Amino acid sequence: MCIVTVLNHGLRNGGGVGDVLRKPSKNEPLFPARVVYDLLFYFIVIIIVLNLIFGVIIDTFADLRSEKQKKEEVLKTTCFICGLERDKFDNKTVSFEDHIKQEHNIWNYLFFIVLVREKNKTDYTGPESYVAHMIKNNNLDWFPRMQAMSLVVTDGDGEQNEMRMLQDKLSSTMRVVTTLTSQLNELKEQMTEQRKRRQRMGFVDVQAGASAAAAVPPSAAGGNHQMYKT
Ligand SMILES: [Zn+2]
Repeated sequence: MCIVTVLNHGLRNGGGVGDVLRKPSKNEPLFPARVVYDLLFYFIVIIIVLNLIFGVIIDTFADLRSEKQKKEEVLKTTCFICGLERDKFDNKTVSFEDHIKQEHNIWNYLFFIVLVREKNKTDYTGPESYVAHMIKNNNLDWFPRMQAMSLVVTDGDGEQNEMRMLQDKLSSTMRVVTTLTSQLNELKEQMTEQRKRRQRMGFVDVQAGASAAAAVPPSAAGGNHQMYKT
């Protein structure tokens, strides 16, 4: 009871428990001890402990406030669904406000989840059964993470343009390669023909030389034949 009384009266008085205790005369033997006791109570309990408690409370509130501010800031500058930041929508066909109100409306996603949960399984459409399967597995891949249709379309266009340009380049290169190959083949044929012709010429020359060298014997032979014939 003593401790309860001291805490009750001591904490409710600005100067500590000394405010409610009997004021001793300075002639009493325990007067210095009472002064020390009252002062100690005042410094330790009233100033340090109470301020510690108040400090913790105020600190916690400040933390909560800053956390809330941070969350609000994130919600203001980042799309809750896809996580894209406001600056990603600069100079695009869709503004960030339109994006979070129309394209990635939080509530529409929630409504869709509720619809998928409430709807009969046999009435599911394709996307609904896909999302129902994802929700069942606690999989969040069906959310468009870091992408939005209004941005993806332009990106896709860029990619498609690039692909088309690359294909054009490739086809023109292929054309050049085929013409070069045909030209090379022609050249090869010409070369082989020339070589053949040259070989034939050489063969003919050799034959001509040989026949020139052996021109006499055949005639002699012929002569012989003639001789034999006659
Ligand atoms: Zn979004």
